[in-house]
Amino acid sequence: SRLPAGVLREALIDTTAITENVRHLRRLTDSQVIAVVKADGYGHGAVRSAVAALAGGASRIGVSDITEALALRAAGIDAPIFAWLHAPGASFVEAAAQRIELGISSMAQLQAAADAASPDVPVGVHLKAETGLGRNGIAPAELPAVFAEAARLERIGRLRVIGIFSHLSNTTVDDDRAAVARFREALALAASVGLEPELRHIAASHAAIDLPEARFGCVRLGLAIYGLSPFADRTSADLGLHPAMTLRGAVAAVRRVPAGQGVSYGYLHRAETETTLALVPLGYADGVPRAASSGAAVRIAGETFPVAGRIAMDQFVVDVGDHEVAVGDAAVLFGDPTLGDPAVEVWADAADTVNYEVVTRIGPRVPRREV
Ligand code: PLP
Repeated sequence: SRLPAGVLREALIDTTAITENVRHLRRLTDSQVIAVVKADGYGHGAVRSAVAALAGGASRIGVSDITEALALRAAGIDAPIFAWLHAPGASFVEAAAQRIELGISSMAQLQAAADAASPDVPVGVHLKAETGLGRNGIAPAELPAVFAEAARLERIGRLRVIGIFSHLSNTTVDDDRAAVARFREALALAASVGLEPELRHIAASHAAIDLPEARFGCVRLGLAIYGLSPFADRTSADLGLHPAMTLRGAVAAVRRVPAGQGVSYGYLHRAETETTLALVPLGYADGVPRAASSGAAVRIAGETFPVAGRIAMDQFVVDVGDHEVAVGDAAVLFGDPTLGDPAVEVWADAADTVNYEVVTRIGPRVPRREV
């Protein structure tokens, strides 16, 4: 297959896969889904990912920060949107005006949220309890005071406490169970001061799939909605998920070279025999990890070939041996392995990182095309 005329590189985004993944995960977890589309939808495009996830039955959108939330609202996403990582001293006035729900990790944030309320519209908040991840969230010692103040602000119509939430470390099942136990204590404390939020959520993809006791009827799913597995020992297909991103470039040059030909900066690779080299126009400026120069693979014309030599800023080389490869053929770095393409995990493993990082770093120079 070939790329459209004039296109050097592209990421195909299968929005139907995102919709289907959300449907599947709703059924599997028997929970409402908050679809996490931070970081431009893990590289897939935040707006299209949100639209696709809502079509699959997600009931809410989650992003990291308010700027991301406002961009979704401006693009016409009308569903509830929730953001949880805030600049120190930030005002929540614009967020409140746009009905953005705020994750609250401190008394100062709680007060800033109440200050942003207009007389007749309370600000929607989700109170975050720290349960052992060591990042943000209200510390256990501060929970009684913050919960009591939240209950008071709710009674006077400044805030609406929509959710209480936390986040897990995915270290061991025992660590996650201990965090869930601390979360239950926080929920009991909240109930004791009169907070009965509609939502309780602690599980992201990993626990939503593997730890039913962490579901609480509501899960915040990022990676899995894009069809990727959060587990080292299970593939997307094992989980019934379809990877939504296919990254590919148009082979830009094909050259027959003699034995001994050095390839790319530093000659990490030399041709052992006479062979054919194909040039793939994607590099680390596009988010292709330079660290994957050894061990990653590319599919061209139905065959899989190893990366040869250093991945450069804009391009890298593949040794295709004696196979017939033509200029303009599609070189697929990763996609859906059930269709024969390399898995994104091949690249993640070669770069000693995780699938999350590989898709999220695919840069703005790579046009996304919905399929
Ligand atoms: N919830 C929070 C607070 C997060 O930071 C993230 C992403 O890191 C998620 C949910 C989604 O996690 P995952 O992509 O593992 O489903």
